[in-house]
Amino acid sequence: MPSTPPHARTDATLDPQDWDAFRALAHRMVDDSLDFISTLHERPAWTPVPPDVRTTIAAERVPRTPQGEAAVYDQFLTHVLPYSNGSRSPRFFGWVQGNGTPLGMMADMLASGMNAHLAGFNDAGRLVEERVIAWLAELMGLPAASGGLLMSGGTMANYLGLAVARHAKAGFDVRTLGALGGPRLAVYASHEVHSWAQKCLELLGLGSESLRKVPVDDAFEVDVAAMRAMIATDRSAGLRPICVIGSAGTVNCGATDDLDALADLAAAEDLWFHVDGAFGALARLSPALAPIVKGMERADSIALDLHKWGFLPFEIACVLVRDAEQQRAAFSLTPSYLRDEGRGVIAGGLTFADRGPELTRGFKALKAWMSFKAHGVDAIGAIIEQNVMQARAFGERIARVPGIAISAPVPLNIVCWRWVPAGFTGEQCDALNRELLLRIQESGLAVPSGSMVNGRYVIRTCITNHRTKWADLERFADGIAPLAGVIESEMR
Ligand SMILES: *Cc1c(COP(=O)(O)O)cnc(C)c1O
Repeated sequence: MPSTPPHARTDATLDPQDWDAFRALAHRMVDDSLDFISTLHERPAWTPVPPDVRTTIAAERVPRTPQGEAAVYDQFLTHVLPYSNGSRSPRFFGWVQGNGTPLGMMADMLASGMNAHLAGFNDAGRLVEERVIAWLAELMGLPAASGGLLMSGGTMANYLGLAVARHAKAGFDVRTLGALGGPRLAVYASHEVHSWAQKCLELLGLGSESLRKVPVDDAFEVDVAAMRAMIATDRSAGLRPICVIGSAGTVNCGATDDLDALADLAAAEDLWFHVDGAFGALARLSPALAPIVKGMERADSIALDLHKWGFLPFEIACVLVRDAEQQRAAFSLTPSYLRDEGRGVIAGGLTFADRGPELTRGFKALKAWMSFKAHGVDAIGAIIEQNVMQARAFGERIARVPGIAISAPVPLNIVCWRWVPAGFTGEQCDALNRELLLRIQESGLAVPSGSMVNGRYVIRTCITNHRTKWADLERFADGIAPLAGVIESEMR
């Protein structure tokens, strides 16, 4: 008998050498994180990375030898923790980002501690994700038996919805033949659709030309008659329309398309109806706001983010698919080493791996499951409603400031505005507002973002923030004129 080779008898591990010391350090990590979060209102909305921190991190060599947990944690405290993009702050109003919650943070830690593998498997994590998807289906008005999957973000959730749409409506076997197996497939959405749509069609092999962009009206809602006409024209030109995308809350202005009209159109044309509700879908959690997204419940698939208006820490989003079987048909693939044996750890098959492109997936569901139960979904809906009321009141508040013009209606939680001094041309106003945005961010006053509305540069204040109080918005509103006045006189 050959003897055991020497290296098989070593007992190296990455577990702590001293559990008591590690436990004390771990407790400190939790305390420091909670200290930071509980004092956010006293801090600047954004603190840029200082130059010395930047150069220190950029110069770090591959760490081949141990520095120890405590030393590395100290580096995290001084070099990393304070310098996020500000999304935790009560005065963060940029893009569409949630703020995270302490409970969500802890749930992510617990999920990581379990090291749960959510391809499926015969375990409790699977039951939790199934439950979260079923809850979301019910809340969005889809049948309880709907399919779905938690995804990393709205982009990927939308991508998955479109991949199922392509499989269901291409009219040929896309999985075998690829996108070349038939005529050019076409997908319809408004000009205001988020950039995921183009990326997604490129990724699906349909090409960006397959994204047919339809004009919007004065409220930035899609012109449904124009979409109908475009579908007819495309059909006669030999294209094959497969899908209508409705936006529930556009990223620029928060507009929601007439989803009932789009559902009617999709039904009449035998097209898949997908709703991008990345943030807007969750308006349905508030009885007062639910009418805004009426018609969404008729969708074949819905994408929504829980790391935006669900306020959970990044990353978590969900795609819901009315017909669970169609989702499976688009993705299911079971190699021999992943076969369901009926019993044991893999009993029931890898249900989530069969619903999308990923095999190994983390336990994102835990933070949703714990948060929904701990806070109650109605409380989340109430904060969403609060944000919408805050946006409307903020719009009215700054509209009274001499020099500020509101650039678009405020149907949801986004206020687009700009500083327009008398005698300035449109281009000069664009330049002034670009500079104003940066000074607002750099001063730590608040973090709004910028965008273009009707060809003009605007400052976009998007309130997707469970920490924002009216006092935060007043402080922001009061801080605008002094900063704008300085830039205005510099430019004159
Ligand atoms: C944010 C957003 C997306 C993309 O979602 P991510 O989570 O950032 O990937 C898609 N559509 C709309 C309307 C969005 O606001």
